[in-house]
Amino acid sequence: MSSSTASVPLRPVEMFFFPFVGGGHQIPMVDMARVFAAHGANSIILAAPSAAPSFQKSIAGDQRSGRPIKVHTLQLPENAVSPDSDMSAAPFTDTSALQQPLRELLLERKPDCIVVDMFHRWSGEVIDATGVPRVVFNGSACFPRCAMEMMKIYNPREGLSSEFEPFLIPGLPDKIVMTESQLPHFDKGPPGGGNRPRGAKMGGPDKSQFGVVVNSFYDLEPKYVDLFRNELGTRAWVVGPVSLCNRDVKDKAVRGKESSIDEETCLNWLDSKEPNSVLYVSFGSLVRMAPIQILELAHGLEASGESFVWVVGKISSSDGNGEKSRDVDCLPDGFEERMRESKRGLIIRGWAPQLLILEHPSVGGFMTHCGWNSTLEGVSSGVPMITYPVSAEQFYNEKLITDVLGIGIKSGSIEWSSGKEPKKPVRREKVEAVVRELMAGGAEAAEMRRRAKELGEKARRAVEKGGSSYADAEALIEELRRHKRN
Ligand code: UDP
Repeated sequence: MSSSTASVPLRPVEMFFFPFVGGGHQIPMVDMARVFAAHGANSIILAAPSAAPSFQKSIAGDQRSGRPIKVHTLQLPENAVSPDSDMSAAPFTDTSALQQPLRELLLERKPDCIVVDMFHRWSGEVIDATGVPRVVFNGSACFPRCAMEMMKIYNPREGLSSEFEPFLIPGLPDKIVMTESQLPHFDKGPPGGGNRPRGAKMGGPDKSQFGVVVNSFYDLEPKYVDLFRNELGTRAWVVGPVSLCNRDVKDKAVRGKESSIDEETCLNWLDSKEPNSVLYVSFGSLVRMAPIQILELAHGLEASGESFVWVVGKISSSDGNGEKSRDVDCLPDGFEERMRESKRGLIIRGWAPQLLILEHPSVGGFMTHCGWNSTLEGVSSGVPMITYPVSAEQFYNEKLITDVLGIGIKSGSIEWSSGKEPKKPVRREKVEAVVRELMAGGAEAAEMRRRAKELGEKARRAVEKGGSSYADAEALIEELRRHKRN
């Protein structure tokens, strides 16, 4: 490099982030924009008018400390309806009202890239037509993506006699056994057919995209990151856990949404408990359990004798006009009073400050629905888990937690059940047994706890200077810079 070029200061790379609505997608995307701003990229989060105030709150601290991050509100065309920005918005929420303002903005600003959530299903063509490099975020880890790709190639569902008959997913580095009842509907297809022929080549990535960003870290799933990159041929930057950018209490307390419990009450309750003695129970932002599942959980938690914090979400109910959700009204008689008086259980109705709770030293276990963010947040906090998957790719994540990483115990949830009554609900006796097994401290649980702590430390190292995720974030910025030069 000549001395004259060396002295020209580099203009920061400008990255747009276009989150989807709903907890599991929007929260990590906002965190990711903050991560790239910390690496010096000019990060701009694009928001529908309804979402902008909450995004603004999440980045206020970064702005005060001088980080190059902003929210840009996309103005809707006249008469267009803003997509619902509620945390529990479903993956099929239509965001296409944002098409025109997005196109106009990209043409005017020509950023160095846009990181876009794959659930903006219309966005690929719109973005590619503007020539702005498109980096896709799909919210999950490399492990389920590799597993789903193998499902397409080998179709191991052929010849199964029932939806509960186990089968092995071929082509993966570990022995992963599933049942059809656990498969996402998009993996099912017609029985015994409809997929690619056996032995077909990997589908490969969408060639028009610049690449993908993954909220994971290399040491968590090295064989699957390699498989995803090398055999599936996906250009992937693995830059997580992005939740670790939330360093102070305030950030953690308001992440995603204002909590339904004030942080002091929550922390005081946890402070009154012994280290590793509390089980945190939460099923994310979307899951709607059936009343029977809530009831069995409540009885099981009570019978276990262990302390817990339980974020009681909504339940599904059918009123003849389709599925609706409503507040939980099916807890056993006197349950909440007994838990409050004995100080055994803290029940949070609504939104919990999940990171604050998970990182508290009293928390020694996490019963989770295995949504990817919750899983990764559990890993980062170094807590072993009880897996209670319900839908989406959560059953794959369960296998990663229990069968690959050895940091969790299965609750016995074996079928997709969000929004409907399961055929084989997890019974109270099983809940009680797994809670005791993890929390009452046998040798196996102690070993899980040790492994979980070790992974938590690796997660933290990954995002620090010298770590793999830190290096990948820098590498993407460098790649965008090179792309711009060319
Ligand atoms: N979350 C939270 N408080 C709650 C429920 C959820 O902070 O009461 C956050 C959680 O920390 C995670 C996200 O919402 O970052 C949920 O994402 P996940 O992928 O675990 O599940 P989903 O909601 O998409 O099913």
